[in-house]
Amino acid sequence: MIRKYRKPVHIAMNSLYYIPEQYEEIADIVKQCMKIGFDSFILADPALILYLRQKGISCKIHLSGEVGEMNREAIKVFQKMEIGRIIFHRKNTVASMRQMIEAVNAEKLEFEAFALNELCQFTGAFCNSLHCDEMGYLCRTTYWGDAEMEERMEQVRKRTLEIEEQQEQQYLCGKSGCALCALPQLEAAGITHLKLVGRGNYVEDMIRDIRNLKAALGVLEENQREEKETGRYIDQLNKKIFDGQPCGNNCIYNPGQFL
Ligand SMILES: [Zn+2]
Ligand SMILES: [Zn+2]
Repeated sequence: MIRKYRKPVHIAMNSLYYIPEQYEEIADIVKQCMKIGFDSFILADPALILYLRQKGISCKIHLSGEVGEMNREAIKVFQKMEIGRIIFHRKNTVASMRQMIEAVNAEKLEFEAFALNELCQFTGAFCNSLHCDEMGYLCRTTYWGDAEMEERMEQVRKRTLEIEEQQEQQYLCGKSGCALCALPQLEAAGITHLKLVGRGNYVEDMIRDIRNLKAALGVLEENQREEKETGRYIDQLNKKIFDGQPCGNNCIYNPGQFL
């Protein structure tokens, strides 16, 4: 399929840690995968990365967003392990991503940010909820962050039920996490790749997500050609993807802006 569709495929083994016996086993799996043409891996365990490098395995490594906290010093440490790409976790602000990218000033390094779906009450790393296909999870409940929490609990419960019913019934782009509205800022910050989360979603919805992300990138490109103006981009994005409405209230980089 890789050859047929000519798309790069990266293999994720992004547990935060493994038991000692597994390191050797994983190194073998990585070597076997490399033999049949997979050369890039998404990893989250620094010990595993170090182990692979010490074994002389020269695969490309993308540092998973699951790693958690990220800052310029952390990036420098991982650069020494010859990381090819940093995937920022969901709670990095655009401003902090920009600062980190500017500070490490590395031409060869790629930077990836979340673009659609799967917000997390935590950063995505060390999540105390579950992100799995079999059960509903806490991280899909609506976000509330003010002091009137108590009074709002009943409202939230109702709203959550409504949203869950909606989610079952109808597709809504970015309903569980949207960064389409932040694409101009992400690009300006130096982000080179975007992550669209598809795990656990219906195939039809994934196809629509991919089409919408591509359409949003098209709108961005068109607007850039003339002049870089976020307002114009947002207007056209809303027209093209959100039926003239602003994007949902689950924006990854502008939390709560439409509440
Ligand atoms: Zn979570
Ligand atoms: Zn948005």
